[in-house]
Amino acid sequence: MSDKSEAKRTVRDNDVVTIEYTLKVDGEVVDSSEQHGPLSYIHGQGHIIPGLEKELQGMAVGESKEVTVSPEEGYGVEDPNAFIALPKSEFPPTITLEPGVQLQLSDQSGQVYNATIHEVKDDSVVLNFNHPLAGKTLHFTVKVVGLREATPEELAHGHVHSEGDHHH
Ligand code: ZN
Repeated sequence: MSDKSEAKRTVRDNDVVTIEYTLKVDGEVVDSSEQHGPLSYIHGQGHIIPGLEKELQGMAVGESKEVTVSPEEGYGVEDPNAFIALPKSEFPPTITLEPGVQLQLSDQSGQVYNATIHEVKDDSVVLNFNHPLAGKTLHFTVKVVGLREATPEELAHGHVHSEGDHHH
């Protein structure tokens, strides 16, 4: 078998795939390659959410697609145990206590956790430690703009190297 037709080259495992994308949740744009440039990743290694990776399999350069991803194949369903109430007195006065405000908290070992204020009560604040997109259905518009085989070094490192990238 020969593989003369470059045009038919499509996304398969261990390719470095470059995509332009827009992610909408509840009708609003929450992430877009227009904000920070196209995304390059190694296909088939679980580096992007499963529901999107699955749909990119077999796409060609220049092809675009609309993809709807369920929470189960996106950022997961919301864990009810990840809602935790803390006394209001534990929050420094510099923090605005309002639903939707995102916070970073660290425990005694220095581990940092991201949380969103879910509810403010009289004496306590309910924090949501779920990923902000957990439980959400994701609507992607995605276009493949680049495709090549990953180098052995990239596969060994588990990430994409840009040109002129000489790190070890
Ligand atoms: Zn590397």
